[in-house]
Amino acid sequence: MRRYLDPDGLVHGLPTYPYRYAPDGLYTRSQLREMGLRPIADPVAQVMWDGSARHRRSGEPVRTAALYDITQTLLRDTPSLTRLAQLAIARACRRICPACDRMWPYVIPAAAGMCLDCQTLTAAGVPVGSSTDVFDPTAGRAAA
Ligand SMILES: [Zn+2]
Repeated sequence: MRRYLDPDGLVHGLPTYPYRYAPDGLYTRSQLREMGLRPIADPVAQVMWDGSARHRRSGEPVRTAALYDITQTLLRDTPSLTRLAQLAIARACRRICPACDRMWPYVIPAAAGMCLDCQTLTAAGVPVGSSTDVFDPTAGRAAA
């Protein structure tokens, strides 16, 4: 991960950050689109991460995505209140774990299809589900 941390752009030409470590205010084009914005200036930085095995085989070992300064954007259009609500719901849904139905402050990783807690439990062989009698992460915290 650290080899992709180049905030001054000395190695990669553009300021570069590892996946998920982009500073506040910098977004990819698709993130801006989700917010109803479009960039009006060139990218100011990039995120860089290891490609999947499929990408490595095709000779593209490293994936990059351009990052744009949110202060250099314009509204794509004037979204209706309905559209804004749809986007808010869509963003919230991406933070709900399909295995345990809990909402997390992070987007559920698509590759795993579940939250980090459920991944840990699954790796340990514990069945996961929304039923609290299976596993209650808050149990014991109040007594501690
Ligand atoms: Zn979960």
